[in-house]
Amino acid sequence: MPNSTQAPMALDDADPELADLLAQEAARQFYCAKLIPSENYASLAVLQAAGSVLANKYSEGYPRKRYYEGQQLIDPIEELAIARAKALFGADHANVQPYSGSPANLAMYCALLPQSAPNQRVLALGLPAGGHLTHGHKVSATSRFFAFAHYGVDATTHRFDFDAIVAQAREFKPALIVAGCTAYPRIVEFDRFAEIAAEVGALLVADMAHIAGLVAGGVHPSPVPYAAAVSTTTHKTLRGPRGGLLLCKAEHAQAIDKAVFPGLQGGPHNHTTAAVAVALKEAAQPAFRAYAAQVISNAKALAETLASEGLAVVTGGTDNHLVLFSTMPLQATGKQAAKAMDLAGLEANFNSIPFDPQPPMNPSGVRVGTPSLTSRGLRESHMRDVGRWIARAIRGKDDSTELGRIRSEVFDLMAQYPPPGFEAPYPARP
Ligand SMILES: *Cc1c(COP(=O)(O)O)cnc(C)c1O
Repeated sequence: MPNSTQAPMALDDADPELADLLAQEAARQFYCAKLIPSENYASLAVLQAAGSVLANKYSEGYPRKRYYEGQQLIDPIEELAIARAKALFGADHANVQPYSGSPANLAMYCALLPQSAPNQRVLALGLPAGGHLTHGHKVSATSRFFAFAHYGVDATTHRFDFDAIVAQAREFKPALIVAGCTAYPRIVEFDRFAEIAAEVGALLVADMAHIAGLVAGGVHPSPVPYAAAVSTTTHKTLRGPRGGLLLCKAEHAQAIDKAVFPGLQGGPHNHTTAAVAVALKEAAQPAFRAYAAQVISNAKALAETLASEGLAVVTGGTDNHLVLFSTMPLQATGKQAAKAMDLAGLEANFNSIPFDPQPPMNPSGVRVGTPSLTSRGLRESHMRDVGRWIARAIRGKDDSTELGRIRSEVFDLMAQYPPPGFEAPYPARP
């Protein structure tokens, strides 16, 4: 018997109540079609690193500059993650400590706009056009510290209008321009944003949270050559654990590191750092390039099917992993549509569309994406099934029998394509 206060106890015995909730969530993730574009299925290797004893260790500071002892193995783990991030994205410097995408963004702004800087103005994409809360929305703390103005998209194409953005930048004179988005289905032209930033004497920063996996896979232009700093999450298309990552030019390395710790955070989450290192190794494999290309092919097939079913696809299609569409042509608000889809085993989120006539809490659209289903091995033909199920669910939003039928078809398909990270025996069908 080891000399500890308690014999080790597995979760099932230690906390049956929690274990039961976890098992139910595993079954839900296994059988539902996960269409939320910001989600994915991490590999078993990533999940193992994230659920490891590294969670027990404090390591405030950076490799070889720590405030606690016992870093003999934590240092090489963090150094591995840093080296892999720099190599994968071709960056001068990487900081792997941000707890997630939101704190990474706040750290990025703090690093590049010190309190002593006279100009604290930032120009970013507005929320209604597909920007993120942390790009200075009034409910986000980011808007308390910096003076944000927002650009939108063109009223007819719903794409970036660079003539309008440059005119706004000349007028507003920002110190920082943010390129990046959370609900924009087209390529982000980082080169054009860099030209505008150079013209008005601003620094360009990029937030590639949604598309980091597409950038890593070589199927979306990289912001790294163009931006002073780049933020990302690690758990969306990049398919790692929930976390954040900052990349930057050498000249900003010290400011970025200081802004993360001690500026905003305490001890890094070493279990997450390890899992990020594993995910970065996976993302450097040829198989990941094929994955990223398939994510886009699948999204295009899904967009085509949705359009052929009479749904109004924003910008008429997609270049990336997501499709934004108005559900109003099928006489449903985005919220009603997303609810019906959920009952049919199709998990998505309601979303505003550009120039949405409906209020943000009950908008006109739904946002779907293909990163998760592609991780399960689904291809274009399956996306056409998914598109038809989505349309059927919206049309049948008041018909619980029809929603149940769709759900059963969805579960049948998902059962044939177990997600990464799940080991047999697989969860029983809920
Ligand atoms: C998801 C996202 C974030 C925030 O990431 P969290 O991990 O949820 O904090 C920031 N920016 C963009 C563009 C995002 O899509």
